[in-house]
Amino acid sequence: MSSSIPWFDDFVGIAYRYYDLRMNVVPLITDRKESASLWHDTIHWWVDSSIKIRFVEMDDEYWFIMGSDSQKPDTNLSFFKVLPKSENYERFKKGHGGEAYLRLGVYTAKSLDNAKKNAVCDCSHEAQDHDEGDDDVCLFNKCDCKKFSSFQVNLLKRKKTITDIKFLEEKDVKDDTLSWNCINVNKYSKSN
Ligand SMILES: [Zn+2]
Ligand SMILES: [Zn+2]
Repeated sequence: MSSSIPWFDDFVGIAYRYYDLRMNVVPLITDRKESASLWHDTIHWWVDSSIKIRFVEMDDEYWFIMGSDSQKPDTNLSFFKVLPKSENYERFKKGHGGEAYLRLGVYTAKSLDNAKKNAVCDCSHEAQDHDEGDDDVCLFNKCDCKKFSSFQVNLLKRKKTITDIKFLEEKDVKDDTLSWNCINVNKYSKSN
């Protein structure tokens, strides 16, 4: 039955943030209106105790997989995204303690013009370390960053509590309905 729920991967990534004393898992949506309708139409109707998130690790990447029973099955969606492992991901993996809040976040890319001076670039150096001329190259010795790139995340207030969190390897997914479903539909049945 759960295989009939459409898979949704049209989001930028996941942020992991401490907020309200708990780790927050934050799917990042670029459009504020879209984030509002995702919440209204789908996540609002989720039954907290049935929300599952799965992290299936494959080499340097992981599959983020999230689904739930819904009081409004017609507009239900399951989420997935293949993402590179990151420090924040590893921190969440170690520190979540079996519980997390689910919130949506609105993601805004920041260019050098509209970033604060201390905003941190993907290269790990601050905006003020980048050239404000035509090319916003990083001025740090040995840094090969050619363009300032940073983002801001606004966490939306509404939240759900997740208590079913599992980290899996690919060999384990056969025993886990949600992740098996996801990887079967979005990977195995697409190769050749
Ligand atoms: Zn940079
Ligand atoms: Zn740099």
